[in-house]
Amino acid sequence: MNKLVLIGPPGAGKGTQAKMLSIKYQIPHISTGDILRENINRNTDLGRRAELFIERGQLVPDVLVLEIVLDRLHFEDCKAGYILDGFPRNLSQALELNKILSSEGEQLSAAILIDADRDSIIRRITGRRQCESCGAIYHIEEPSAEKAGICDKCGSEIIQRKDDHEKIVKKRLEVYEEQTQPLITYYDKLNILHRIDGHGGIDQIFNEICGLLQ
Ligand code: AMP
Repeated sequence: MNKLVLIGPPGAGKGTQAKMLSIKYQIPHISTGDILRENINRNTDLGRRAELFIERGQLVPDVLVLEIVLDRLHFEDCKAGYILDGFPRNLSQALELNKILSSEGEQLSAAILIDADRDSIIRRITGRRQCESCGAIYHIEEPSAEKAGICDKCGSEIIQRKDDHEKIVKKRLEVYEEQTQPLITYYDKLNILHRIDGHGGIDQIFNEICGLLQ
């Protein structure tokens, strides 16, 4: 169980679970969203090309995202497996991933769908804050470093992502429903889909995922 894909609406907890799974199973957590944001912060060519799409809550064009993923999957640390978080995001990305894996005689071990209802998602995302530097996630309803605005883990500033504002979150949800949800049927047909209820506590969800990966 070492090549995993996490799918689900924004704010369902994919990033949090992926970070925990990455530590437990000692395989890299690859978040296309994090890689894109890092490129925006470093003002790279890729970052400049992706920025407007992200700010509007739209998907970044496949060609840019596929380049990132293709490049990252060839790093040495991916030999033991990986957790893809936020990729694939539409059917053509899923088909492309399948093609890459098949050409190397590989296949995905599991696609884990973490689902949550619309109201919880909007509440979670609009209250979410993130460390600019290490990506650690906080929430305004939880007692945390957010009060001081400084990350517990690395001491950098905690900010609200531009695309976590309500209007953009609604757009992201629309995009999820139209473009990403079809992947549920796709992975179900491949017999690798596992559904997890994202409304529980972080540890409960984590234990459930670990249980199904045993
Ligand atoms: P995330 O951090 O996964 O919520 O992603 C934030 C934003 O980055 C998304 O709303 C998209 O604009 C962009 N993005 C991340 N992953 C992808 C992907 N696989 N395909 C296209 N756009 C993506």
